[in-house]
Amino acid sequence: MGQSQWDYDKLKDCFTRSEKSLNRDEDHRGKDRPWLNGTLSDYASRVLRPMTRTAEHHAHNVPSISLAAFDIATDQHMRRSSLFSVYLPSDLLRSRPNLNISANTIATRIVFDAGTQKLRVNGARRKVVLCCGALATPQPPMLSGIGPEDHLKKHGVKTVVHSFGVGSNLRSLFSSPFVHTVIFLPTCLLSSVGTIMPYGASDLDISKPENVPDIQIKLIPVSGIDGPSEVTSGVCTFMVCLLRPKSVGSVRLARADSCE
Ligand SMILES: Cc1cc2nc3c(=O)[nH]c(=O)nc-3n(C[C@H](O)[C@H](O)[C@H](O)COP(=O)(O)OP(=O)(O)OC[C@H]3O[C@@H](n4cnc5c(N)ncnc54)[C@H](O)[C@@H]3O)c2cc1C
Repeated sequence: MGQSQWDYDKLKDCFTRSEKSLNRDEDHRGKDRPWLNGTLSDYASRVLRPMTRTAEHHAHNVPSISLAAFDIATDQHMRRSSLFSVYLPSDLLRSRPNLNISANTIATRIVFDAGTQKLRVNGARRKVVLCCGALATPQPPMLSGIGPEDHLKKHGVKTVVHSFGVGSNLRSLFSSPFVHTVIFLPTCLLSSVGTIMPYGASDLDISKPENVPDIQIKLIPVSGIDGPSEVTSGVCTFMVCLLRPKSVGSVRLARADSCE
């Protein structure tokens, strides 16, 4: 993402301190934390086994053209292991007097400490993390005067920090499911042992900008629309995701009102 504070090495520790991988014993995976990540059900594992073997073959160096198996956040019984269920169970809430939860509450403004030289959020000793989702997160800062100055002025909001980046440069990794009844045939994309056939070694070098993948296809051996009820009908989903979208958008205030 271009932010050094959010690079792989910094986030890796947060990730391993959060999760327990049910199926993988790898250095970069968590071993004993509450958030569970597993694989698809037995049925899906059987269908995917030849593909996951190929994925393991490629996964160690993640070249620009590759197959990789992905996990899903479920427990042993295929129930969702959401961050909400894992980190906010009622016994934990009772044991954390410094954690306040306000249900059915909309955050409208960030209140700053008046009179301090450095801009500080009122009551915060260190950092404040705003996580209202990709589209809604820019709203409270803009209503509080952090955002593009011209835009804030238009809505009568006094600028505290001019920052054009708030609400800007948003990209959508568009993803669309194609659900088909399929029969797989070998093609020249895969060799006889299931490895992907590149044009040449340099095609696999991910450090070259021209090799950054344009597309990701997630193969799901069930219907990605109707759920796993169709497991016997040979239905397969190709979830196609554009990895380098050209369209860039922004979100701005419609009114200086927290509900718009
Ligand atoms: C259809 C769909 C399928 C997906 N499937 C997967 C998947 O299989 N695996 C995966 O890893 N990811 C998946 N994702 C992506 C994943 O859901 C998001 O990346 C993730 O939820 C983002 O988390 P977040 O906490 O940043 O934001 P969110 O989950 O969007 O949470 C933001 C919260 O803030 C609240 N909020 C907003 N404004 C305010 C305000 N002013 N005051 C108070 N509260 C506010 C919102 O109501 C919301 O509850 C999927 C997303 C979609 C839409």
